[in-house]
Amino acid sequence: MFDKKTVREVDVRGKRVLVRVDFNVPLSEGTVTDDTRVRASLPTVRYLIDHGARVILVSHLGRPKGRPDAQFSLRPVRRVLQRLVGRNVVFIDQTVGKEATEAVERMVDGEILMLENVRFSPGEKENDPEFAKELASLADIYVDDAFGAAHRAHASTVGVTTHLPAYAGMLLAREVETLTEMLAHPGHPFVAILGGSKVSDKFGVIDRLLESVDTLVIGGGMCFTLLVAMGAEVGKSLVEPDWVEPAKQMLEKASERGVELILPVDLVVADAMVEDAETKIVGRGEIPANTMGLDIGPTTVELVKGAISQAKTIFWNGPMGVFELTPFENGTREVALAVARNNRAVSVVGGGDSVAALRKFGLEERVTFVSTGGGASMRLLEGSELPGLEALLDK
Ligand code: ADP
Ligand code: MG
Repeated sequence: MFDKKTVREVDVRGKRVLVRVDFNVPLSEGTVTDDTRVRASLPTVRYLIDHGARVILVSHLGRPKGRPDAQFSLRPVRRVLQRLVGRNVVFIDQTVGKEATEAVERMVDGEILMLENVRFSPGEKENDPEFAKELASLADIYVDDAFGAAHRAHASTVGVTTHLPAYAGMLLAREVETLTEMLAHPGHPFVAILGGSKVSDKFGVIDRLLESVDTLVIGGGMCFTLLVAMGAEVGKSLVEPDWVEPAKQMLEKASERGVELILPVDLVVADAMVEDAETKIVGRGEIPANTMGLDIGPTTVELVKGAISQAKTIFWNGPMGVFELTPFENGTREVALAVARNNRAVSVVGGGDSVAALRKFGLEERVTFVSTGGGASMRLLEGSELPGLEALLDK
């Protein structure tokens, strides 16, 4: 249940609506290389213009150091949004100040204005009350649609809500609803597939998932810390020594709760993480000392596919191997395909690299839900509060 007021519950006609979006897109030489996050904002943006609001978009991009920095300008996003929404978008070179205020004064109903990167001001990350007040003064209503930034208590996610009535945008609401619903009322069997580089990043999430999943698959770089916890030798594979003890507890919890734990039984190993690596498939107890495990092996792939094909709920976060390199992409591709093929299940995929993998294999449209918020989804799933969400008006 989503217990915050959404943008649908307020009359926006003729109102100046400050919308916090997550346009933190990848750029290459001034061009947006992936417009997923811009597309994700469209339901809210379209709703607002269709209902006669004056839409003021504010976002961060990258990590500028609290001052203007051309390489982090949001200007390139303007064209992308303009094309997607089919309307003119006015871009202002500042976030707050005279120019921004005057541009807002000139706005008419149904118009879209984009402010410059909110992290060009030091007050954003410091959640400075003065900066928040100035930003809020541009508008009558605040809508938060930046799920990917909801775990940060910044001026544009939390500070502004002391000055403006604050509502959830459609993306934010849908993300929160989907993820909480998945944990609270999953169809069974519920299969979670975790991978990626580090177990430390996702320990909280795995711990929580162990309370509702039937099967937990662990692949990717994180599996080696668990294998070490089980007493295996893993050669030069990625291991986080400080996490071996927590990993032991994780194994114990899985067995106490009767969760079926699938760890790799075989691996693709190589002595270097390179495109022309010479690879070998070995059993998990036979990793040569001078090599590292860089993908799950074919027998493991079959085990994982079997679990996925039976699932009614699937959560996937983290690639099974170094999928960016051809010799180590197979495990991730096979898992992505298996998830896509199971159309009886609700499938949720999260994590920047996992979503990139889905896209690489052309399967993005074939899962039920792609979560756009990396850190925010992880925080939500592990049960931590999201300040950006808490700050919104209750239903
Ligand atoms: P996500 O962004 O989907 O949450 P992560 O950021 O946790 O995923 O991890 C993605 C990275 O993990 C990828 O860059 C991938 O190359 C790396 N990775 C996967 N398997 C291994 C492995 N066996 N050894 C080292 N790195 C790995
Ligand atoms: Mg990542």
